[in-house]
Amino acid sequence: MKKSQALTLFDLVERLSLLTRADLRQAGTEQHLQPVHLQVLFYLNQANRFSNTPQALTEYLGLTKGTVSQTVLVLARRRLISRYADPRDGRVVRLILAEGGTNLLKTLSAGAAWRDIVQTASAARVTSAVVVLRQVLAQVQAQSGKRTFGVCATCHYNQRIGPRSYFCGLMQEKLSSPEVRRICREHVPPVQQAEPAS
Ligand code: SF4
Repeated sequence: MKKSQALTLFDLVERLSLLTRADLRQAGTEQHLQPVHLQVLFYLNQANRFSNTPQALTEYLGLTKGTVSQTVLVLARRRLISRYADPRDGRVVRLILAEGGTNLLKTLSAGAAWRDIVQTASAARVTSAVVVLRQVLAQVQAQSGKRTFGVCATCHYNQRIGPRSYFCGLMQEKLSSPEVRRICREHVPPVQQAEPAS
């Protein structure tokens, strides 16, 4: 990719990001919620059972612990999420969308226009765009030492053990088909093969 193309791509991503944030602000205003509240609900709607902690939220959203605590408090008071102690380690707090949170997400129109427009492009073009954006995201995350928060399908630890059954080599637990489509704090990209020397 040429430098000018890279800059154009960056500009487009930035502008889409600004529009998406404005969209989120609008959707939140209607519900008397701030964008950060909705971001937490979106995250919990996608996160797997190893990633539903306040710690994971601070890492994924790039927020401080204080902001996450306050946000969790507001959402719990509004009965949009529930907090519970991890059954294996009572010191760990886990978060889950409450029925109110799930229902609220269904009513939000944020991102709907984006989805409709993308669906008009051919599958091959969307796939190419996804590949490039994933690659950029992975490298930016690697350079900044940030967690990748990917899904099992792209994780080094994922093992397929049956038609709809998977095993996480890191957590040593079985994973179902729906679970492998969720994002994970422990995700590790596959080890890259070294390019043959030319
Ligand atoms: S296979 Fe990877 S992404 Fe999936 S649960 Fe295990 S560590 Fe997380």
